[in-house]
Amino acid sequence: MRRNIVAGNWKSNELFSQADELINDIAEGLREFDNTDVDVIVCPPFPYLELVGDASEDVEFFVGAQNVSKFDNGAFTGEVSAKMLQSMNIDYCIVGHSERRKYFNETNQDVAEKVNKLLEADINPIVCVGESLAQREAGTHFDLIRSQVSEGLFHLDCEQIKKTVIAYEPVWAIGTGKTATKEQAQEVHAFIRAMLAEKYSDDVAQEVSILYGGSCNAKNARELFAQTDVDGGLIGGASLKAADFIEIARSF
Ligand code: PEP
Repeated sequence: MRRNIVAGNWKSNELFSQADELINDIAEGLREFDNTDVDVIVCPPFPYLELVGDASEDVEFFVGAQNVSKFDNGAFTGEVSAKMLQSMNIDYCIVGHSERRKYFNETNQDVAEKVNKLLEADINPIVCVGESLAQREAGTHFDLIRSQVSEGLFHLDCEQIKKTVIAYEPVWAIGTGKTATKEQAQEVHAFIRAMLAEKYSDDVAQEVSILYGGSCNAKNARELFAQTDVDGGLIGGASLKAADFIEIARSF
């Protein structure tokens, strides 16, 4: 499923009325967006999943969550299981975002377990990887990405990896206004795709969408998405402005 994808990560933003307005504006924009070659995904906070899901009944887009429990239903106060998301027809779920790795100590092992729960529930994982500024400056970014991808994903079989989306999000570019250059993005995306080809096969590697994330906006999306191995973007800040988000979806 190597598809062009634009996914909006609202993170922990918006009050209910603001979320309502934002999704209505996005749905309105998507009504005129007639491109079946691009999958648009909106990932709101948990409490707004139903609201966003309702809006997706009239207009074509997918709904994603931002996190999932590594446990099944049960005595895990505060957790949201993959089965709960499945029961709400959620299509995608972000896993291993750098903010979860940093503030909630999410490890590659946690990522692997969450990916398993999602796939069991027929939900496509969007797995985030990416280096810190210190790692890039030290030149260790490829090692870091190699371990994030292999430890988080390489237990999957061919069919499972094809249902998985990978997002390369250099931590130094997230929310900083400092975007990776198109060359930097392409270099890492090609590296990830080569890893997939080596582990699985060229054909399988060609079916996995690899998104870029990190200060991607309506101005820079086009040149990033034009790179051979960049299949779209995971968008944070710019996904909170409907017009910008739609413009980014038009950037293929
Ligand atoms: C993100 O958090 O996934 C992200 C890419 O954020 P931003 O676009 O704001 O850098």
